Parts: sequence; structure tokens; C-alpha cells
Amino acid sequence: MSSETLQTFLQTNLQDLKEHGLYNEIDPLESANGQMITINGKTLVNLSSNNYLGLATDERLKQVAKEAIEHYGVGAGAVRTINGTLDIHLKLEQTIAKFKGTEAAISYQSGFNCNMAAISAVMDKNDAILSDELNHASIIDGCRLSRATVIRFNHSDMEDLRAKAKAAKESGKYNKLMVITDGVFSMDGDIAKLPEIIEIAEEFDLMVYVDDAHGSGVLGKGAGTVKHFGLQDKVDFQIGTLSKAIGVVGGYVAGRRDLIDWLKVRSRPFLFSTAVTPADAVAATKAIELLMESTELNDRLWENGDYLKKGLKSLGFNIGDSETPITPCIVGDEKLTQTFSKRLFEEGVYAKSIVFPTVPKGTGRVRNMPTAAHTKEMLDQALTVYEKIGKELGII
Ligand SMILES: *Cc1c(COP(=O)(O)O)cnc(C)c1O
Repeated sequence: MSSETLQTFLQTNLQDLKEHGLYNEIDPLESANGQMITINGKTLVNLSSNNYLGLATDERLKQVAKEAIEHYGVGAGAVRTINGTLDIHLKLEQTIAKFKGTEAAISYQSGFNCNMAAISAVMDKNDAILSDELNHASIIDGCRLSRATVIRFNHSDMEDLRAKAKAAKESGKYNKLMVITDGVFSMDGDIAKLPEIIEIAEEFDLMVYVDDAHGSGVLGKGAGTVKHFGLQDKVDFQIGTLSKAIGVVGGYVAGRRDLIDWLKVRSRPFLFSTAVTPADAVAATKAIELLMESTELNDRLWENGDYLKKGLKSLGFNIGDSETPITPCIVGDEKLTQTFSKRLFEEGVYAKSIVFPTVPKGTGRVRNMPTAAHTKEMLDQALTVYEKIGKELGII
């Protein structure tokens, strides 16, 4: 017997989404999520993955993953604190700490989980968190889970942050204060103003928490946004993901040793959810080792990003003010943005449309994520299609 209440709830809401064109249909890939992808038998230039360095299909990572499966099997078998900690998990964490220039690191099953884990392990209802209004959904949820008071500040607005930090400090209402920001904001590709954030944090005694999911592997010659600014000693929590530039799956918190020791006994996803698989652990370790050995992939990512940006700009598209390879093509009108993305697809380019409520109304965009693995020919093919469809729809 199925619940009638549930049935009514689902039917009403699903129908509502579909009527408003807000129901997201998922296109399954029949190939790896590489520089070219296959959907419905059609081959497309892929400009929508977070696989910035092309590592998701790297032969060196595949090889160590296969060896790990042979040696350790396909699952870790338990949560980290029972007996799911394999030596390769520790090696991964040591490698992350070296990569980030911190005393220690702890790994989780995803970047999303890091924010579920770390914020509520340190903050509680007597504390307050200053949070950039454009912070990632997992930060928002992590803050909620902690029950701390959340004080949102206007996006990268340092005057607003300073005023709100001052008010929070002077109110005397809170035990602890923290400021949280994305390192790189994924919709526009802009970088957090970390030097100013640190200055304000020092003035008002705020802990500093940077989620660098889109900055790691990209900025600071690959080491991330914190390294980009040379601020490793000033950031208390460096959060990252192993699922984007690193090309595998998982996440981590890097910081001082006592923080990591605390998270190992108090962060719930570490205590109550099974560790990542052996193949994931060794593949992520290998990816980070490759990044520390050579900047080749990082250099190629920036070269491709600059090439695509220059091409789109000279065609007359509005590419916003991105400071990273993330290249939005801002169309404006939501319906037109969706039509644009659909026409790109028909002509062989996969670039997803992003519209309200993910971005503000009237700033609908198609977002392009070039990677180190794209060739000039692929990018030229994409630019040719962009020109054709841009003119067809009167966008350029
Ligand atoms: C993508 C992203 C995450 C989630 O990372 P996953 O490893 O995919 O769970 C967390 N924070 C930010 C800022 C992100 O962009």
C-alpha cells in the first residue's frame, strides 16, 4: 500500500516543476566523462565537466586503481574508525597534507561530506558563522547542521563582511566566530578576496574556512587558492574535493594536526559512513603526486581556458569577469539560454545552461569548463558552433 499523502505530494510538485520548465532531465553518458562524450549515440565536445585536468581517464590513475582492486578488493569494508582505515587511506592523507602545506589532513567520501563534517564538529548554537551569500549548497547545509547563527554577507563585499564581523564581535553574543568562503566561485569563476578576508579575520578573531573545490588543481600552479595567495599559515580549514580537478571522488580537510585529530573523533561522516574504496584512495593519491611533480597539466588547462575565452570574446559573447578557466557565456533571458544550450547540443557541443535560481534572474548563462585534455581542434570546433548558433539566435 502506498501512502496517498506521498502520492499527492509528488504528483503536484513534479507536475508544477514540469509546467514551469524547471524539471531537470538528466542526459546519461555512454562514454567516459572526458573531453569528448557520447550521449544518445551522438559525439560531443564536452564543456561541462569539472574534470579540469583530464585526470578522470588518465592511464596512470587507471593502472594504480586496477592494482589496488587486485590487492585490496573493491570496498573498504567499514567506517574509518572501526577497521575501514587501510594504509592507502593514510598515504592519501599524508599526500594531501604535503600538497596543501599543512601539518595534517583528513579525507572524506566527498567534498559535500567535508562540509557536513567539519563545520558542525567545531561550531555550535552559541557560535556565529559569516558566510558569503554565493557559497556552495554544501556549505549552507553544513552551517545549518551546526546550529550556529549564520550571518550572510554580500558576495565578496569586504565592507559588508567587516561591518558584520564587527557587529558580531561587539555584540558579545557568540562564543566563537568563523568566516566561510568558496575559494573560487563556480558560476562566475571569480576568486575569493582571501588577503582581505584574513585581515578582517585577524582584526575580529574569526576562524577562517576556505572551501577550494574549484581552486585546487587550478590556481596556485595546482595547489589551490590559498597557495595562490601564499596564505597557508593563515587559513584554519582548507577544504577540497578529490572529485573535480583530481578526477576521482572524495574530499578532504587540511589544517593543523590538533584540528585533524579532533575531526577524527568528532566528525560524523568519518565515524558513521564507510571509507572510500581502495581504487579511489590510490587513484586520488596518484593524481596529487602527478600535480606535485609537474605543472604540465595545469599549464595546459590555463592555455586552453585563455584560448576559449579569447575566442568567445572576439565573437562578441559576454563572458563575464572570470579569473579562472571557468568561462560563462552570459545570455540573460532564461528561455533563450536554454534554447542556446539545446542548439549547441544539436550541433555537437555539450555546454549546460545555468539559470535562476542557481544564478540571479536575467543572468542565464551557458557555462564552459575547458580542460587540459581538450585539443585546439576541439576548441575550434566548439567556437565554430558558438558562432553559428550565436548568430542564428541573435545573441551576437
Ligand atoms: C563541488 C563542490 C563541493 C562538493 O564536492 P563533491 O566532492 O562533489 O561532493 C563542495 N564545495 C564546493 C564549493 C563545490 O564546488
